[in-house]
Amino acid sequence: MSNFQQLKENIDTFTNFREFTPKEEEVAKEVAKIIQSQGAINCTACRYCMEVCPRGINIPAIFGLYNVYQSNKQSFMFTANYNALKEDEKADKCINCHLCSKNCPQGLDIPALLKKVDALEKEVEKKG
Ligand code: SF4
Ligand code: SF4
Repeated sequence: MSNFQQLKENIDTFTNFREFTPKEEEVAKEVAKIIQSQGAINCTACRYCMEVCPRGINIPAIFGLYNVYQSNKQSFMFTANYNALKEDEKADKCINCHLCSKNCPQGLDIPALLKKVDALEKEVEKKG
């Protein structure tokens, strides 16, 4: 957390907090294992990165599309949804300033991951 708003959001998360039952915890761990084994990017869509990005790259949306593609390999859906993003929000508009990574609670190397998604998108689009 790097500002008051983020602190407030995190505290709100615990309003009406209820612990997982052991069974729910087991299921959550299994789901996390499956997602990670599919090469997903560990982005929680908190959008803290976007608060500091000078280019307005839609980082969580891009990572979300990548993660869905890793799980379903639906090329058409991936390119169609990627192309539905505004031009100036796409991964190739990143200027590699690394401001976003400093704000990412998951410690993701965001510019490197954006390059990876951009390369994949171009490859998938080329294959048709
Ligand atoms: S590295 Fe790219 S995505 Fe990150 S803040 Fe800079 S321009 Fe935005
Ligand atoms: S700060 Fe990290 S975890 Fe949060 S949306 Fe951005 S990339 Fe995802």
